[in-house]
Amino acid sequence: MFKLPNIIKKALIFVLVLLAIIYSCLYINTHKFDRHNETQLAKLKTINPNAYLIFSRFINDIHTHTPYIVYIQSTLRSYKEQEKLHNDDPFNAKPGTSKHNKGLAIDFNVKYKYCLNGGWLKKADYLQWKQSGIITIAQKYGLFWGGNFKTKKDCVHFEIR
Ligand SMILES: [Zn+2]
Repeated sequence: MFKLPNIIKKALIFVLVLLAIIYSCLYINTHKFDRHNETQLAKLKTINPNAYLIFSRFINDIHTHTPYIVYIQSTLRSYKEQEKLHNDDPFNAKPGTSKHNKGLAIDFNVKYKYCLNGGWLKKADYLQWKQSGIITIAQKYGLFWGGNFKTKKDCVHFEIR
């Protein structure tokens, strides 16, 4: 009977174990990602129902067509919350004038999917946002991007006009 040399057997077992590990990592990651998408959409439910439709499609598209993961920071904001933000920094819209007060705006950071540590795009990362592919998707839904504000760029902000 044909016998495989020991070294080949060991190598085969090693490759099989390695493949199993890679497969489980991919499986766990995909499910973790699906759950993350759901938690983000759940956060959206506090805003205006028409806006919900647009923003949920927008977020789904980012998750499907770009290597970025959305982390929502702010959606609907009360008059009081806006007042506090405006008092902290007068560049923030006055209470009642922000689209957040009407549930027509969202703020979110994104994280580059393939980066274990870091890979975040925040308020100030104008060029990276521009090159992320996210702004093109926003345009598709007619969303205004805070990076185009004339007074102070707010790259994490997207609103319905
Ligand atoms: Zn905002």
